[in-house]
Amino acid sequence: MNTKRVLIVGDGLAGTLVAWELMDQGIEFNLWGDGSPAASDVAAGMFNPVSFRRILPVWHAQEHLNTARKRYQSCENLLGVQLWHDVALLRIFPDGAYAAQWNERIAEEHPVSSFIERCNDGDWHDSIVAPFGAGRIRDAGWVDVQTLVEKSREFWQKENSWSSRHWNLDDGCPVGFDAVVDCRGVGAKSDLLRYGLEVRPNQGEVLTLEVPSAVGVETVNNVTWAMPIAAGKVRIGSTYRWDLMEAQVLEASQSVLLDKANAARVDTPFTRGQITEHRAGLRPASPDRRPLVGRVSDDIPWYVVCNGWGTRGVLIGPRTAAWTIRTLLDDAWEVPAEVRPDRFRTFTKN
Ligand SMILES: Cc1cc2nc3c(=O)[nH]c(=O)nc-3n(C[C@H](O)[C@H](O)[C@H](O)COP(=O)(O)OP(=O)(O)OC[C@H]3O[C@@H](n4cnc5c(N)ncnc54)[C@H](O)[C@@H]3O)c2cc1C
Repeated sequence: MNTKRVLIVGDGLAGTLVAWELMDQGIEFNLWGDGSPAASDVAAGMFNPVSFRRILPVWHAQEHLNTARKRYQSCENLLGVQLWHDVALLRIFPDGAYAAQWNERIAEEHPVSSFIERCNDGDWHDSIVAPFGAGRIRDAGWVDVQTLVEKSREFWQKENSWSSRHWNLDDGCPVGFDAVVDCRGVGAKSDLLRYGLEVRPNQGEVLTLEVPSAVGVETVNNVTWAMPIAAGKVRIGSTYRWDLMEAQVLEASQSVLLDKANAARVDTPFTRGQITEHRAGLRPASPDRRPLVGRVSDDIPWYVVCNGWGTRGVLIGPRTAAWTIRTLLDDAWEVPAEVRPDRFRTFTKN
């Protein structure tokens, strides 16, 4: 396909990263967003290459980390803001069996061992309690997603490449464009369902606290995590619910998150009075937790989807955006099988 001008619909993290990718390729684009709630407005921005449940590397962890670092740094340079924050992560072991498995992964030089370290007892901030020990991940941190999205939008507004517009599949490929890249997150749910593709909204909440006492410089993870984001400021998250279809804030989540985070603290617990912000959003997740990238039907060859970023948009986003644009521009190139629409048995091409 000879693509000269692309419409990107959805101006959250996915739309933003797809737009930067097109800009790199020198392809003209317009980015439309309709102001509906975005997961990217509330994302804590954390990245971590390790999945803690079974102590395994995240899918393509190193490749995603490399691409992500490069992309966010290039945005930092272009926008003149800091986006990337290296913050090591301390994983508190829940019990002895987990500690033993962590040690085993290191001893057997498992692929995850390049990301994980075992901490000596007490090798963490005084405010933290870890009776079964803890491990450390240095290749972790957070990206300021809200600043990236906001500053990028301002940048493209000046270039006349951003508009406040609503779009859905029935609108077709608008005049003046050769292709539409759909980055609408949960906003694409009903259109994708026509092709048997599911976007599952996963509701989540995060808190921001102003705390008087020192909390150390690492993110502390005991399933719930507490991440220092600035002097005296901590972000705590997240909740995960599949039964809510609205991005509503639930007051009860405050005690749930605080109680869990406090289980890893010695004698300076986080309190409700310290909460300065409580946000909720709907993560666009796919049934197998992998992104969804590519064309969905031969009948609408101008339509490419980029969705399903779930809980790890920050880490997997830059590489996924690059795949999206490659498949749009290069007919001879195939999107990796594990993210293509045809991996789902429910998928129907028309
Ligand atoms: C509480 C919470 C915490 C999170 N923390 C992290 C984290 O620490 N690390 C991490 O990697 N990820 C995190 N995430 C996940 C992350 O937010 C997502 O992976 C990512 O932001 C998804 O981006 P997106 O652009 O696909 O979707 P969205 O951000 O939802 O963007 C979709 C965009 O499409 C627009 N839109 C929708 N419908 C239409 C339409 N019809 N026409 C035009 N525009 C439309 C919306 O206005 C929106 O701007 C978190 C999510 C939540 C909810």
